[in-house]
Amino acid sequence: MKRRATLLRWQCAIAMIVFAAPAFLHAQTKMQKGRTVVVISLDGFPAYALDDPRLPIPTLRKLAREGAIAASMRPVNPTVTWPNHTAMVTGVDASEHQVLFNGLLTRPNGGGRPSIEPWRDKELMVHAPTIYDIAHQAGLTTAQVDWVAIYRAKTITWQFPELPDPKGLIEREMIAAGTVTAEQLRTFEDSSQAWQDQIWTDAAAEILEKHRPNLLLFHLLTLDDTNHEYGPMSAASFTAMASLDSRVKQILDVLERTGLSRNATLIIVSDHGFRTVKHRIHPNVLLREKGLLSEGPSQSKADAWVLSEGGTAVVYVTNPNRKVELVAELRRILTGAEGVDRVYGVEDFPKLGLPVPALSDQAPDLVLAATPDYMFSNESEGDFVTQVAVGGTHGYLNTDPKMQAIFIAWGAGIPRGIHLNHISNLDVAPTIAALLGLKMNQVGGHAIQQIVKHELVNDSRKLQQVKKRWRWRIESRYCRAMVVNTARQRNQLGTPACSRPVTEERPGLECAHAVLRSARNQGYPANISDMHGLLPLDWGCIRETIVVNAL
Ligand SMILES: [Zn+2]
Ligand SMILES: [Zn+2]
Repeated sequence: MKRRATLLRWQCAIAMIVFAAPAFLHAQTKMQKGRTVVVISLDGFPAYALDDPRLPIPTLRKLAREGAIAASMRPVNPTVTWPNHTAMVTGVDASEHQVLFNGLLTRPNGGGRPSIEPWRDKELMVHAPTIYDIAHQAGLTTAQVDWVAIYRAKTITWQFPELPDPKGLIEREMIAAGTVTAEQLRTFEDSSQAWQDQIWTDAAAEILEKHRPNLLLFHLLTLDDTNHEYGPMSAASFTAMASLDSRVKQILDVLERTGLSRNATLIIVSDHGFRTVKHRIHPNVLLREKGLLSEGPSQSKADAWVLSEGGTAVVYVTNPNRKVELVAELRRILTGAEGVDRVYGVEDFPKLGLPVPALSDQAPDLVLAATPDYMFSNESEGDFVTQVAVGGTHGYLNTDPKMQAIFIAWGAGIPRGIHLNHISNLDVAPTIAALLGLKMNQVGGHAIQQIVKHELVNDSRKLQQVKKRWRWRIESRYCRAMVVNTARQRNQLGTPACSRPVTEERPGLECAHAVLRSARNQGYPANISDMHGLLPLDWGCIRETIVVNAL
């Protein structure tokens, strides 16, 4: 809209919003059909690495300079790949989405070793709505390249999966274009990680150029691979980061060449950080020594198993008849063992963001946290502690500074030169939703205000005058009071600051009326409908409240 707005014209604009949208929900969820949001996940890229000037990452530095960068992004527990990619698309932690491994935990009958199965349907694995589900349901188009916990998702329009199918649409387009051969796709897994990252990037470029999705989720693996093998911040790690920077540049070039960049937002994230390791601990060896686990001729049998998640491990008691007794015994055996920093029981799980066994068949009975320099292993034979010559891992508790991830946003809707403080990866999904003009309810995070506020101002420049005039009221006296509507929001934003009572039956409405009265006293011809039209375009947390009122 043009800048030279008269008072009359912006009043008209508000009136139009009010009358054109009987359910004001439509006014605040102005869907961005022309928008493209590209999320690129650089697996295992630690936040602390960005502080090192030796990193060969000119593209990432440019995006951070021209957009927004967070000091760090907190992952969820366990700090491994699938749980965190799932948190970034659902906005909830593992206690709700229930993805605890890089796959689905399945437990054989009779005490056999539990297995992790990656190729299980997303519907079976992910217990929360995702941003791509919501975008798809709203009529937007979605795409994924090498994203995880997404197998057979019905709400993805175009895809090039982790294991490509030579008969798939995008795969056929790439074969026809000479980018890759059918034979190379058939033997995809046998190639190098760096080559796979290259082909995945070519696939993302193909999807952006030919199909122009509203949302593309894209995941690159080579840095994680390298950091595991050679350790983070090793010479190999720097080279992998340079390679990733080139992949990001390739996507940026596609956006610019195709003109998509005019209305595209690029979000660069990682799923977790990394630590160097020196020792491996093998808790199943202790279980074997205590007679809880035995190796049979064909397979192992046990009353309990420990599964490694790198810097943490999860313990499953597989003998239901002795569960209480065994949990106590395991706690005793493992507490104080070399390299075990702490043993967490089910009572600690809500605080860790993990599901409890009563609510999820994925939930363990105990969680072990390793001390720095140690990592867990699954082996049940040999020594309890072994040495690691060189290498790294993740999976340590999400409060560990070295596990923090990266977040950089650039392009349409992103203000220039913004330094965000420490954010949570639960904020990623609601922020994508806001950029697409969608809304995610019942999430643990919230849209990042410094980004969303800017976006809303852009939405209607005529309303900037209104915003300036009313903002102090909304921020300082009313906003938080209105946010008291849900327990989740109260946790996010602190104690309500409104001087007026907020009733249980009509949450927030008292405050809505108070804002309205102030508006009228200052000569603004407002009514309750105006509130719905005006406030959704103004300030993020008011938007939340107004939606609750409507429901
Ligand atoms: Zn990862
Ligand atoms: Zn990894």
